[in-house]
Amino acid sequence: MHKIISKKELAENIFEIEVEARAIAKKARAGQFVVVLAKDAGERIPLTLADWDSQKGTVTLVYMVVGTSTAKLSELCVGDNLLGISGPLGCHSEIEEADVVVMVAGGVGTAPIFPIAREYKNAGTTVITIQGARSKSLLFWEEKMAEVSDQHIITTDDGSAGRKGLVTEPLKEILEMKSDRIGKVYAIGPSIMMKFCSLTTKPFKVDTVVSLNSIMIDATGMCGVCRVEVGGKTKLTCTDGPEFDGHLVNWDLLMDRLRGYLEEEKISYDKYQLEVEMNV
Ligand code: FAD
Ligand code: MG
Repeated sequence: MHKIISKKELAENIFEIEVEARAIAKKARAGQFVVVLAKDAGERIPLTLADWDSQKGTVTLVYMVVGTSTAKLSELCVGDNLLGISGPLGCHSEIEEADVVVMVAGGVGTAPIFPIAREYKNAGTTVITIQGARSKSLLFWEEKMAEVSDQHIITTDDGSAGRKGLVTEPLKEILEMKSDRIGKVYAIGPSIMMKFCSLTTKPFKVDTVVSLNSIMIDATGMCGVCRVEVGGKTKLTCTDGPEFDGHLVNWDLLMDRLRGYLEEEKISYDKYQLEVEMNV
């Protein structure tokens, strides 16, 4: 059984849950994810390991309610059990020696970036984080991020907290000041944000790692739904990733496929609507 031992609403529609999962907590590494089934008659969804406690045997997940399955998950309360959780899945982050790393987090991407930033900080690397959100009401874990950062910059699109603007603006300024000292840039968040972070770092020739959020079903390399094109080759986000070289990702294909899902969903919804109308 995987009991939820704590639950918090961190920001508008963004929840943090701590779940009993001893075997996963024991093996968890930064960059990996789990697949969660909240209730019976639901779908399995991938969520990144945002934190874990191997002594307590718990893992922490942060998720944004965007549709049916994340809504079902948010209905569970402290004391309830998840029907299933499997992991850790995917490859872990490669923590390489670097003078400085820049961690760019967009929206809910703050959760997956936190354990990677912590590992770099523990390795003695200077960590600069840029944490961005559309608005103050969507920001969370600012203190946790500050604890693992030597410099912590907040941006919001509407200027309601931190600096007004996009994460790519401070990223470009930092690259202009010290690109020779930066070993790596991590960018985790919506695809469009990761694409533009990768375009920003490319002229400076700084290695850029992104964590892709393609549609995933089995998460063990069998179904191929999460395939992406990286450096002209087909890769699976679940078993080859989720981290990839941002300069080599075919962003337009990835975003087309994500949009395709929505279109499919719209068609099936319209069909469903038609059936409902015909039966009335
Ligand atoms: P739906 O209405 O089904 O879909 C809403 C949107 O969610 C879709 O447009 C699509 O972009 C995405 N989505 C839907 N189904 C899937 C699926 N099976 N796999 C991936 N994306 C899907 N979200 C978080 O909030 N926190 C995380 O830590 C997190 N980690 C992730 C790690 C990985 C490796 C991947 C691939 C995705 C991660 N996501 C995370 C995204 C999360 O899985 C989706 O938001 C979730 O599956 C949406 O389910 P839904 O039924 O609520 O929404
Ligand atoms: Mg769904």
